[in-house]
Amino acid sequence: MTIGIDIGGTKIAGGVVAPDGQVLTLTRADTPAYDATRTRGVIVDMIRELGAAHQVTAVGVGAAGWIDATRDRVRFAPHLAWRDEPLRDHVAAAVGLPVAVENDANAAAWAEFRFGAGQAAGESMALITVGTGIGGGLILGGRLLRGAHGFAGEPGHQLAVPDGLPCGCGRRGCLEQYASGQALVRLAQQAAVEQPAAAEGLLELAGGSPEQITGPLVTTAARAGDKLAREAFEQIGWWLGSCLADLVQLLDPRLLVVGGGVAEAGELLLAPARDAYQRALSQRGELPAASIRPAQLGNVAGVVGAADLARELI
Ligand SMILES: [Zn+2]
Repeated sequence: MTIGIDIGGTKIAGGVVAPDGQVLTLTRADTPAYDATRTRGVIVDMIRELGAAHQVTAVGVGAAGWIDATRDRVRFAPHLAWRDEPLRDHVAAAVGLPVAVENDANAAAWAEFRFGAGQAAGESMALITVGTGIGGGLILGGRLLRGAHGFAGEPGHQLAVPDGLPCGCGRRGCLEQYASGQALVRLAQQAAVEQPAAAEGLLELAGGSPEQITGPLVTTAARAGDKLAREAFEQIGWWLGSCLADLVQLLDPRLLVVGGGVAEAGELLLAPARDAYQRALSQRGELPAASIRPAQLGNVAGVVGAADLARELI
């Protein structure tokens, strides 16, 4: 068995995972996101607790950030307090097990490739995770593509709009600002402020206050047929589909997998994404291109992938 830890901006999940990808135990805690030392403490406690109940040989840690090519440190994490954090050595010393650190979306991509939607991908697939932010992971030739510095596969920070909205990474106009859960909420809130009469349904769910509109609430409204909520999904879906078409031009994977919390809205997001994707590819005529599928492993993908990648250490 190996342990997988998935560190997001708000939650840390940890699990004991069998070689076939089965999660035997799963636990969650809040991320003390603005305190690097406490975040590390939560991870170490979680590993000790999981390790006490099972025979484990290695730990994989997936973190939402830029991970060094040597996979020992988190160089930068927009939603966490880590700056050049030597996470691998700190955690390994504390728990007495070999530790591998990986980008969280890379870990999720690996999990989908090995055990989920990507099993039909042959040797190449791209995963895009649409959550609070946008993440990505690329599998080419049956291997996780990490790049020269460890930072490959970050479509969320590709330029979408020159001089556009400011992004947590320090730049402006990144795709993440247009295709993510944050973008969905921003669009719905804006619509509620600008067209309160048309946004009646959304506002009713949010107790009358535009600031109270959240991602899950937009999903609920859209499912019930609310026009503004559906339009917000159509907009982020359009950006997502355009990005998927760019990925196909660049990498030609067999399969495109869309995961992350916002993707749990299913066709609300995927239908406009497929539409934009097909339009963007139409100039290619009858050439074959990857199909778009929803991820299968849900919110345990990061845990499963991190645990499986840690097997390289055994
Ligand atoms: Zn960015």
